[in-house]
Amino acid sequence: MGDVETANHGSVVKTVPYVQLNGETRTMHELIDTPSQLRLTIFLAMLLIMAVWEILAPRRLLTQNKASRWINNLALITLNSIILRILFPTATIGFAMYAAEHEFGLLHKLALPEWLSIVITLVFLDLVIYFQHVIFHKVPLLWRLHRVHHTDLDFDITTGLRFHPLEMILSMLVKFLAILLLGAPSIAVVIFEIVLNSAAIFNHGNIYIPKAIDRMLRLLLVTPDMHRIHHSCRQPETDSNYGFSISLWDRLFGNYRDQPEAGHNKMMIGLQNPRKPELCIPIQALLKTPFISQ
Ligand SMILES: [Zn+2]
Ligand SMILES: [Zn+2]
Repeated sequence: MGDVETANHGSVVKTVPYVQLNGETRTMHELIDTPSQLRLTIFLAMLLIMAVWEILAPRRLLTQNKASRWINNLALITLNSIILRILFPTATIGFAMYAAEHEFGLLHKLALPEWLSIVITLVFLDLVIYFQHVIFHKVPLLWRLHRVHHTDLDFDITTGLRFHPLEMILSMLVKFLAILLLGAPSIAVVIFEIVLNSAAIFNHGNIYIPKAIDRMLRLLLVTPDMHRIHHSCRQPETDSNYGFSISLWDRLFGNYRDQPEAGHNKMMIGLQNPRKPELCIPIQALLKTPFISQ
């Protein structure tokens, strides 16, 4: 890695960080932008496929006006993307590249095969996100932020991405720290972000999956029927199934719940309080949620 001089309008000369990759000189911006575009493309494709699936084979009838929920949830998701892009322009991959450049973190000290470093990163980051989720439920101040995810009165793909901006920022900082300490390879971080985003959309899907297939998938992955239980307004059910991608963690740490008591069609989604749509749907209300005592 080094700096390459570039002419700017023929007069000003500035330096841009670059790396040599397969004999080609690539600037850091190019290396960061390509995975970002790939992530965005897969994200939009996943959203589209799941949105069609929700229409063709819904699991439950929605209780609220879908257009109103979607407009507000998608507005919050867009706002979060803009805030994160401004605050952390290099995103997690920038930290992985920094760790690689300075040989920082455990994996850069161990000479493991690349595939093994990738597997370790995917499992480790998923575990970190799992514990982060549990902590956001257990610490009252953090629960105020995470409540925004749970006050959605219906459960569908837009719920999966509906978080308060402060939770998104804290989550980004946790990921930065985990990537640095582990010395996670950049490619693994890109794969992890794509998997995490896709899993969040998939496991919040209001989609019907036959029970036998759900059972098979659940051996490894978190399915919508598994995660929906976490969005039940019954407290013991909210306090279960924290996993996002791998279903193992909930079984391992005693948080696994197989089915909701009232059944998937009758269970109530959201929290006991608030339940008024004007507090649970408009983006202004969602942004204020952490600052209101309930
Ligand atoms: Zn939660
Ligand atoms: Zn959720």
